[in-house]
Amino acid sequence: MRETTELRLTPQEAADPAEIRRVAARSLGLSAERVNDVRIARRSIDARKKDILVNLTVSVATGDDLTALPPLTPVEFHTLPEEAPVVLIVGAGPAGLFAALRALEHGMRPVLLERGHDVDTRRIDIAEMSRNGEVNPESNYCFGEGGAGTFSDGKLYTRSKKRGDNDAVMQLLVQFGAKEEILCDSHPHIGSDLLPHIIKRIREKIIECGGEVRFATCADSLILTDTADGKRRAEGVVLAGGERLYGPVILATGHSARDTIRRLHAQGVEMEAKGFAMGVRLEHPASLIDRLQYHSPDGKGKYLPTAEYNYVTQVDGRGVYSFCMCPGGVVVPAMSAPGESVVNGMSASARGGRWSNSGMVVEIRPGDYPEYERYGVFQLLELQADLERRFFRAAADTLKAPAQRMTDFVAGRPSTDLPASSYPAGLVPGRVDRLLPPGIAGRLQKGFRTFGFKSKGFLTSEATVIGLESRTSSPVRLPRDRETMQHIGIAGLYPAGEGAGYAGGIISAAIDGRRCIDALARSMGIVAEDTAASSEATSGIGR
Ligand SMILES: Cc1cc2nc3c(=O)[nH]c(=O)nc-3n(C[C@H](O)[C@H](O)[C@H](O)COP(=O)(O)OP(=O)(O)OC[C@H]3O[C@@H](n4cnc5c(N)ncnc54)[C@H](O)[C@@H]3O)c2cc1C
Repeated sequence: MRETTELRLTPQEAADPAEIRRVAARSLGLSAERVNDVRIARRSIDARKKDILVNLTVSVATGDDLTALPPLTPVEFHTLPEEAPVVLIVGAGPAGLFAALRALEHGMRPVLLERGHDVDTRRIDIAEMSRNGEVNPESNYCFGEGGAGTFSDGKLYTRSKKRGDNDAVMQLLVQFGAKEEILCDSHPHIGSDLLPHIIKRIREKIIECGGEVRFATCADSLILTDTADGKRRAEGVVLAGGERLYGPVILATGHSARDTIRRLHAQGVEMEAKGFAMGVRLEHPASLIDRLQYHSPDGKGKYLPTAEYNYVTQVDGRGVYSFCMCPGGVVVPAMSAPGESVVNGMSASARGGRWSNSGMVVEIRPGDYPEYERYGVFQLLELQADLERRFFRAAADTLKAPAQRMTDFVAGRPSTDLPASSYPAGLVPGRVDRLLPPGIAGRLQKGFRTFGFKSKGFLTSEATVIGLESRTSSPVRLPRDRETMQHIGIAGLYPAGEGAGYAGGIISAAIDGRRCIDALARSMGIVAEDTAASSEATSGIGR
């Protein structure tokens, strides 16, 4: 028999499997000898009060049941038959990779086209960028195998309400090498040291089953034909070198492929401006955040993880919030082309670094910047690109990032010096408060005051405001039909993931890629209507 029980333990108790077993047995009125196995099904930390507690949902096996949780059933991937239909997948980020795995499940042959390099080469390219200050426009923190999430914190949160889809992606991650604890943690994460190995195993499986993965292969444009009903159909893609590939197209190019998006727009692919968020990275000493969040001068102590935070407020009608928090992480240069300044954050699985950072961003909407309205669907994309260039120039055309002490940023005065930082390319003192448009800087200043009021010590001169956090999501959306998942004007084109405007993070992008393949399989009669996953969109901020 399997029973579950809820436990509230001290961090020390929760770190001791024998103690968990003992308390779980007692809570269910069982003697220790009757318990065959105890497993944690759900874990979260309650740090609201001074006495921090760990909430555990624990499953206990007794009698004939020897394991407390049913063993995971791995998805079986089979070698494809010769005649398997081809599906072209542009982009090997989470949307593209999980679309490819799903295609294998449905007996379709994925041909994955990725402009960047494989993860190992990409790691070298990124190290080279930090060394010589030159951005490789095809291989960087945004482009290359695994997409933008490869060198990230690997946070695995999503706002998707479809539990089944979420569980399927999480279980696949475990199947390809993630630790099982991601299935029970309330805030699961993988870490930038482990993610590349998982991505590599996914690629190997795709190839082993008969799929194709082509690196350094940029899809340049679509092959379009007119259909009888006055619409158009995507018959395939034209690669940068001119080669033509035929098949339905899953377009999963991420939020940074401005060149591709512009070319598709020039081909008449309908798109619309989409709101997103921009701001800065805020970096504190990790020990300071630990002390604040755990209400203790000793910080996290021996049994708690490096602390996270999550702040949100409204300022003058727009959301101001922390985004993609990386406890014990580093700030990274996330630009995808020369001449841009963009920062983001990542952390290793142990989250053991000296600093903790997060994006601190302000929601922006189409129409907020009238001077950019002349760019139509690209109004927020052009604003984003202009600001990235402005920050680059402020750092004297280097990869260094303009930065300001948090208290100086809020007071609107220059910083004469800066705290030490994790940012590998280095910081330069700059007027981040003036480089940002007033609508963003002013709201951030008010937001920081609110956050500092809520959490005494958060607004501090020890923290650094680093610009520019501009790639939180896509500034355009490719409209698609809710049921068929195909572009509203182009049959056979499946806009997928974050770049198309339907995801905000690793998990929601992966879910969206799978749903696009499900919809394609339905349209081809490969699966029945009711066997595929739901086609509900997963837009929104996911981390
Ligand atoms: C540093 C960093 C840290 C992050 N941390 C987290 C986190 O902790 N948790 C989280 O959920 N999210 C995180 N994110 C965001 C997350 O990575 C993205 O939301 C997610 O990767 C989006 O998936 P995607 O597949 O839609 O697009 P992407 O991951 O952007 O993948 C798109 C891929 O398409 C390729 N491509 C683009 N154009 C073409 C073309 N024309 N032809 C061929 N290939 C092309 C690109 O090279 C890229 O590999 C982070 C992002 C960054 C940059």
